[in-house]
Order: sequence, then C-alpha cells, then structure tokens
Amino acid sequence: MQPILSLENISYSYHNLNGETPALSNINFQVAEGEFLAVVGPSGCGKSTLLSIIAGLLKPESGTLFFGRPSTIGYMLQRDHLFEWRTIYQNVILGLELNKSINDENIQYVLQLLKDYGLDSFQDKKPSELSGGMRQRAALIRTMAIRPDLLLLDEPFSALDFQTRMTVSVDIGNIIRNTGKTAILITHDLSEAITLADRVIVLSKRPATTKFELPIHYDVERTSPLSIRNTDVYQTYFNLLWKELSDDLSDQKKQE
Ligand code: ADP
Ligand code: MG
Repeated sequence: MQPILSLENISYSYHNLNGETPALSNINFQVAEGEFLAVVGPSGCGKSTLLSIIAGLLKPESGTLFFGRPSTIGYMLQRDHLFEWRTIYQNVILGLELNKSINDENIQYVLQLLKDYGLDSFQDKKPSELSGGMRQRAALIRTMAIRPDLLLLDEPFSALDFQTRMTVSVDIGNIIRNTGKTAILITHDLSEAITLADRVIVLSKRPATTKFELPIHYDVERTSPLSIRNTDVYQTYFNLLWKELSDDLSDQKKQE
C-alpha cells in the first residue's frame, strides 16, 4: 500500500544571531494509511521541529517530504489552547469557522463527536468549568471537526496529572484507532508510546536522526491502560526502547 506520508533524508537547522542549531539530520520514515505512529526522543532533540515540518509550518533545509494523496492535517498541542471566553461548543467549531466550512452536515458531525466523547452536556460550559481530561477531549474534537486525514499530536497529554493521563491517553488513543485516522504522536513517555501506537520510532539526541524502529502488537484488546501494561510483551517493548533512549540520555548528562 502506498504510504500517506514519506520523509526522505529530512534535515533542518535553526539560524539566529547566536549561530546555527542543527535540529534534524537525515530523518527517514514512512507512515501507512490508518497507522498510529509514536515518535519518542530525548527532550530538545527536535520532535516538535519534525511535526512543524510535516505540518508545512517549516520548510526542510534538505530532503523530501512526500504525501501519498492530498491530506488535511489536524494539529493538537500540549496545551489545549481552548479560548476561555468561548463555550465548549464555540471552541470545537473554531476550525470549521476558520475554514469557512460551517454547514449542517459538519455541525451534525461535531454534535455527534461531543456525544461520542461524553461532552454533549458540557457544550454550553466554559473551558474553566471542565476537568483537564475533558478539556483535552474538547481540543481533540476541535481537531477532528475538520476531518483531518493526518493527525499530528505534540505531547498532547503531558500537561495532565499522572492518573488522568493514563486514562485520557488510552481513551483518546481508542477514539483515534476506532475512527481509523492516521496519527503521529510525539511523546517523551515510553509507556504512552507503547500502549497507544502500532509502531514506535526512537530519535537520537539533537540533531535528531531516526535511530530505531519497533512495531507493536498485542494479543489483547487495548481497552484499559492496565490490560496492556500487565502483558509480558509490554515489558519487552519497554526494555528495548528504554535501552535505545537511555544511551542518548546518559550522553546528554555527560555533556551538561
Ligand atoms: P523537542 O520538541 O524534541 O523538545 P524542538 O524541536 O522544540 O525539540 O527543538 C529542537 C532544538 O531546536 C532545541 O535545541 C531548541 O532549543 C531549538 N529550537 C527550537 N525552536 C527554535 C527556534 N525558533 N530558534 C532557534 N532554536 C530553536
Ligand atoms: Mg516539543
């Protein structure tokens, strides 16, 4: 099958008054239609830069970025960026407003998403009246409302406390999986990557290179965070990825 996205030898450096900061070096990977890919790497290695390049916000210095078909991109960030003066409903239709695509069909779709994600009785509330997990779900609805072909998630759960994060991440992971969306999740949390993704890519320390790749399969359904974390194969995945990541983390310490 043709991949929805291919990255070939993508490199990028930031240039400013202090000189050059190489952020990405020869990044290579492909994403299949419907795949849930997680990308992990040490803090500051270039993960957000990579997503900005995929989103078209930054232009690669060299290499090629190739879409298998025209793709609408949905971008979800670490902070939910909900507007406090707008109700939840007004927040989730924001993308449609900006795209000038408010119509009956799209409004029905959004109302259905609010129902599916358990937020229908909160649609007239302000963001401040919702829990962190609910806010994050509202942010996902806003992203989904434009029916993106490719979802880019930049550490979307890292502002949540540990317990909320465990449930919300599996919750949102299942929503994305059930809709068959293609997604790229950036995270520095290995457990999150292993519980949610079909494949995990490990980036090296800055400038990031694609260092290691691990396909993820479970014999059990991904219904709860614990059903997966209790499997032997989860431990095996964790240890493999931890080893790859910690090589770079210990190098980073030595340099500091
Ligand atoms: P990550 O998301 O993995 O934490 P980033 O992609 O945000 O890393 O950043 C990679 C490196 O590029 C970091 O060292 C960061 O300081 C640097 N960087 C990010 N944005 C800029 C910028 N606008 N100008 C200069 N350097 C930047
Ligand atoms: Mg980042």
